[in-house]
Amino acid sequence: MIVFCDFDGTISKRDVGNSFLHHFSNGAADQVVRAWQEGRINSRECLLQECDLAKATEEELTKFFSNELLDPHFPHLVKLLRENEIPLIVLSDGLDFYIQILFEKYGLEGIEFYSNHLEIAGDRLIPHFPHYEDGCGECGNCKLHHFQRLYPQLKPRIYIGDGLSDKHVAELADVLFAKGDLARICNQEGIDYQPYNDFGDVVRAIAGMLGMGKIHLGL
Ligand SMILES: [Mg+2]
Ligand SMILES: [Zn+2]
Repeated sequence: MIVFCDFDGTISKRDVGNSFLHHFSNGAADQVVRAWQEGRINSRECLLQECDLAKATEEELTKFFSNELLDPHFPHLVKLLRENEIPLIVLSDGLDFYIQILFEKYGLEGIEFYSNHLEIAGDRLIPHFPHYEDGCGECGNCKLHHFQRLYPQLKPRIYIGDGLSDKHVAELADVLFAKGDLARICNQEGIDYQPYNDFGDVVRAIAGMLGMGKIHLGL
């Protein structure tokens, strides 16, 4: 088994990327997100334009991100998978800076993740796209590219997500957990999925797949 997981709005309670770019651009970034949602620009262009509209120092950003929350049951998934030696890979079309801060806040250092990179130069934000050339051309960091290249021998391939950027991987996952926009897209397009509210549901379902029966989450 191998588990791939989106970050924004899936592991994190809110979409951290959208939230901080909204906040530090005084809302100007929202129209750019709409253009991406409507398919007028790709996600790389979206992030470039949003970062161009925002101004924030490293200190301001660190403070903002430190107040964000993760799904309280996500650490339970990490523990379950580590105990069973099942790889967990986080795939994000967001930015490494806040993913790192939030994993550290929850004592979850060492989780393998692939994302775009944020450079902070004074109060200017400059996104970099180290994986762009290997992807489909539509994504800043193409989740499908990583999903197909990493540990191809491991099955079933499980994916957990909540949004539009998860759609292409969703179509290929052996087991898909979906909520939010991703669940709506799956309903429209007839893609099979298991609905979930939080990682408590995911942990119970994966424990069941591992033949562990009921496990107590202690929250
Ligand atoms: Mg998401
Ligand atoms: Zn892609």
